[in-house]
Amino acid sequence: MIGRPLKIAVLKGDGIGPEVVGSAVEVLQVAAKKNALIIELEDLPIGIEAYRQKGRTLPPETLEGMRESEGWILGPLSAGSYPKDDPDYPMASGKIRKAFDLFANIRPVRSFKEGSREIDLVIVRENTEDFYPDRNLFKGYGEFWPDKDTVISLRVITRKACNRIAETAFRLAASRHKKNLVTAVHKANVLIEGDGLFLEEVRKMAASYSGIQVKEGLVDSVGMQLVLSPEDFDVIVTTNMFGDILSDVAAGAVGGLGLAPSLNSGDKFAMAQAVHGSAPDIAGKQIANPTAEILSTAMLLQWFYSKNALASIGKTATDIETATIQALRTSDKSGLTMDLGGAASTGEFTSQILDRLEKLD
Ligand code: NAD
Repeated sequence: MIGRPLKIAVLKGDGIGPEVVGSAVEVLQVAAKKNALIIELEDLPIGIEAYRQKGRTLPPETLEGMRESEGWILGPLSAGSYPKDDPDYPMASGKIRKAFDLFANIRPVRSFKEGSREIDLVIVRENTEDFYPDRNLFKGYGEFWPDKDTVISLRVITRKACNRIAETAFRLAASRHKKNLVTAVHKANVLIEGDGLFLEEVRKMAASYSGIQVKEGLVDSVGMQLVLSPEDFDVIVTTNMFGDILSDVAAGAVGGLGLAPSLNSGDKFAMAQAVHGSAPDIAGKQIANPTAEILSTAMLLQWFYSKNALASIGKTATDIETATIQALRTSDKSGLTMDLGGAASTGEFTSQILDRLEKLD
């Protein structure tokens, strides 16, 4: 990375994707320039637009372009409504996670409003298996029709994936210096074997992190606790589907999906991708909150920095985060986007972040 541009591919996605990814790219470009970080951005087609242009939602040239970049910014994908004749049906994002072994999905949930409850937790979600039929088999799709009135959905849990996600969670908890607490979320009273294996690996990993307290909770009970007392959590580690559901629940405690960033990461690659979907109800109206995608982009920069401690990368990441939080904490609430009770458009709120960015040291 040193001495050459940092190469990032941009995949705008569907629905509000082009709007929020557009904001994230604008903020990234200004922050990088301010910190003399040279970046090279390449747009790659994905989703409905790629289907229109190339006949499939994840063209091979997109995967090749991704391989030549060091990381990616991905917008949401309307996977639920992709045409059935798409060769990548049903889900491009599952294929990406699998192809590049993005085994950890890191989803921080923070309260940005001053004076509000001190919520600062991270959901560490396994990303490559479980109930997700688009990625849990070597070949084929993990849902089957034994007869016309029956569907079998396959759940895959492996020791390797449980071990890797547990390690990611404990490492993260050790680096946060918050509550030094990992909560393992499961349903081992019902999914006795699969979640039993998951818990076995979490417990083994816990033995190597003596300074970290470990709690275990059933997913239904933890869902309730996330609504009642989200401030009690630090790092939550869980399997794929439970993590997906709980991150939307937790996002609700801090103001909604517009504020929920996420990073998909592996050993070699990482991808910024907000928790939210393509929000067809507000797409094209320029009212989406770009915060989640912008903070996801800051997470991608932090990941680069963890691989290569180049000061300009770290400073670009912290500047993006600082300017975004300052804009969210504005005293003029009308300057926020509609989901937060304001009246600003996506572009107007982005401009406020850019203004604050210019003023940072
Ligand atoms: P969604 O996350 O798109 O929207 C849920 C609600 O949150 C909607 O009311 C929406 O307007 C609101 N919302 C989401 N992001 C927002 C933002 N940035 N600013 C303001 N409001 C925001 O979930 P959905 O409606 O259930 O799914 C829509 C499509 O997205 C489906 O095709 C689904 O498959 C897909 N999806 C994709 C991803 C992804 O690519 N990461 C994740 C979830 C859903």
